[in-house]
Amino acid sequence: MLYISDSLNQLIEEFSQLPGIGKKSAQRLALYILKLPKEDVLKISQALVNVKEKMRYCSVCCNFTETDPCPICSSTKRNTETICVVEEPNDVLAIEKTNEYKGVYHVLGGSLSPLEGIGPDDLKVKELLIRIKPEIEEIILALNPNIEGEATTIYLSRLLKPLGVKITRLARGIPIGGDLEFADEATLTRALEGRVAV
Ligand code: ZN
Repeated sequence: MLYISDSLNQLIEEFSQLPGIGKKSAQRLALYILKLPKEDVLKISQALVNVKEKMRYCSVCCNFTETDPCPICSSTKRNTETICVVEEPNDVLAIEKTNEYKGVYHVLGGSLSPLEGIGPDDLKVKELLIRIKPEIEEIILALNPNIEGEATTIYLSRLLKPLGVKITRLARGIPIGGDLEFADEATLTRALEGRVAV
């Protein structure tokens, strides 16, 4: 990076911090930005600032939202007696795309990972527990089918079972090691429909 100016270098550095962006992609993005008209760049930078200033956590489901409670939690068309527990906001988007699920969500903000030092206190577990009321009919554990997701499913089912609530998990069909957000809608719909008791 000897012949690159400091400002361009800094942009490349910032882009390469983003998930899934390597050094080469970061360079490509930075050069793309450089070629854009100034007003387009301003629009992008304003969108970045806006999302940071306007988005916050929903105080009910812990998903990102501009309004608290979020549109899903405050909708009268949703069945608030079924809570689907997912790892990340992306998973909510994936399940919403199936158009099959009419319940509400709870976003944990990740999964248990002793190797990375992520324990129950680092996830929105307490926030989930306070939502378990007698009127709750079902908790669907829709975590990713990998080691961390599996550990989280086992942990949560042990925690929730004594509370007397029905707990289910997604049916197999999502590839092991895969991410919910990358599952196609048909597979995700089947996994939701075929969910099994834990
Ligand atoms: Zn919400």
